[in-house]
Amino acid sequence: MFWLTICEFFGHKVDPRRVWHDGLNYRTKCRRCGSNLLRQSSGWVIFDPAAHADDRRETKSGDA
Ligand SMILES: [Zn+2]
Repeated sequence: MFWLTICEFFGHKVDPRRVWHDGLNYRTKCRRCGSNLLRQSSGWVIFDPAAHADDRRETKSGDA
């Protein structure tokens, strides 16, 4: 995509009740665009398997 989504413009919409911890970082899904997000010191970023994959992370079970 070559246009800015509303999320890229305003930031992703995080639901604090759905945030979970994978062992390394807090994780959630954007309520608006459905992107998998990862919490870094700078803020929420889209989870990028190539950059963020780590064996120490736990996958979330249950809730889809
Ligand atoms: Zn979003």
